[in-house]
Amino acid sequence: MSQQSDHFKKLVAHCKEYGFIYQSSEVYDGLAAVYDYGPYGSELKNNLKQYWWKSMVQMHDNIVGIDAAIFMHPKTWKASGHVDAFNDPLIDNKDTKRRYRADQLIEGFVEKIEAKIEKDVAKAKKRFKENFDEAKYRAESPKLQGYKENIKTIMDRFTSAMKAEDMVELKAIIDDYEIADPESGSRNWTDVRMFNLMFSTQLGNIAGEEGKLYLRPETAQGIFVNFLNVQKTTRQKVPFGIAQIGKAFRNEIVARQFIFRMREFEQMEMQFFVQPGEEMKWYEYWKEARMKWHLALGHPAEKLRYHDHDNLAHYANAALDIEFEFPFGFRELEGIHSRTDFDLTEHQKLSGKKMQYFDPQRNENYVPYVVETSIGCDRMFLATMSHALRTEQVPGQDDPKNTRDVLKLHPALAPIKVAVLPLKRNEERIVKAAKAIYKRLSLSFNCQYDDTGSIGKLYRRQDAIGTPYCVTVDFEHLDDGTVTIRERDSLEQQRVSIDELEKIVAERVDMKQLLAKV
Ligand code: ATP
Repeated sequence: MSQQSDHFKKLVAHCKEYGFIYQSSEVYDGLAAVYDYGPYGSELKNNLKQYWWKSMVQMHDNIVGIDAAIFMHPKTWKASGHVDAFNDPLIDNKDTKRRYRADQLIEGFVEKIEAKIEKDVAKAKKRFKENFDEAKYRAESPKLQGYKENIKTIMDRFTSAMKAEDMVELKAIIDDYEIADPESGSRNWTDVRMFNLMFSTQLGNIAGEEGKLYLRPETAQGIFVNFLNVQKTTRQKVPFGIAQIGKAFRNEIVARQFIFRMREFEQMEMQFFVQPGEEMKWYEYWKEARMKWHLALGHPAEKLRYHDHDNLAHYANAALDIEFEFPFGFRELEGIHSRTDFDLTEHQKLSGKKMQYFDPQRNENYVPYVVETSIGCDRMFLATMSHALRTEQVPGQDDPKNTRDVLKLHPALAPIKVAVLPLKRNEERIVKAAKAIYKRLSLSFNCQYDDTGSIGKLYRRQDAIGTPYCVTVDFEHLDDGTVTIRERDSLEQQRVSIDELEKIVAERVDMKQLLAKV
């Protein structure tokens, strides 16, 4: 097994074992691509949401937040294009009964050819050693030219089939290149057909199509339809933004990567309303600002990259993803889209209500353009966990077998900030003092009191859930009121008074530390 998939398996197991994430309805063997956040998971997720919310709403006087309903008038989704165009091409394998996205099967096939090119280059590098001219080899090797031509032919056919929504042609590509089911190798495919990703339900008091409701597939539309309500009631002037955190639902065809692709997930979206013609300036601004936000968390620059979209969605005139290197490779973490005036104009058309802003400086009405930043909260959780989880030799110990699993979360994100551990659980005076310290600290921080094992075991458990500080209470405390504080990453221990303790912890776990870098 590759190191990457090893790390991924370990991460999934860790999330379950330590109460971060459980499969939904596990007692009934689970519901695919739906997950529940456990006690530590929900704390971490809330902290990530707070980090986002504060950096958007608290730190910008021209961004305000809302909390719109999940259900919206069905016409919303007609206007936004989701009823007609929020589709993925679906294909079933008749032998295995497994369902795939035809576009992903074709892209996966192309990735395999690309991998062959890289393998071939690596082989040649080994063979020719220092005489190897890689650029020349890539440009001139007949074998590589063959691969590249093949890729170009497939991609040309694929791109025009996707643009034209030509399902017959997509199937023809799969047949012509004998693309097989990645799990079983079977090529016994059904035809390709379009599949709408929205979940629908029915209003209680209206039968038929009229009463058909959708679970929102994105939070953005709740912002667009409230654009004038918010602008008027907060007296904001363009440029200004509206932020929202909330659930979204997509009936994903393939959902096999833990919380990366879920059917019910959470988005953190901000729509920034700007003067027409100024959208590219703001697009560049938010592109930089959002990358800074990720880097402030301590995620290394080499794990993050921009990916410009070649094929733009119907509503966009520029779009990019911020990709993160997950354990299964670089994938989209956040999208930044210049959405033009598409959404507001469409809502204006379908509702018959004006969606225009009166610009007092220019003394004219216009429909603003929009730059969107949209990040999946669950993907952010996965990125954070996958970077934080390490198995390492215990600092200061010589034996390489002496390892620990430690979650190196930024202290401001950690679910528990301080664990209070009595050194002797049978000594009443120590237990009483430790409980009193726990009570005092819990007025300020999320704390945990634990006396259920040896101190070594208790430390390991706190390391595994990412607790930045452990406080041990011993006999010395009974004499002089001091305690020992142990720092998670360095394992350094300090003897401090209770008052100092509160100050040390407060400084390090304050979200200010993160926000100051944004
Ligand atoms: P993908 O191409 O991976 O399906 P997308 O381009 O459809 O994603 P957007 O519509 O731009 O995604 O949604 C914004 C963000 O919402 C994404 O960057 C991602 O973080 C998150 N997101 C989208 N779909 C899912 C999902 N099924 N599960 C978890 N998060 C999701």
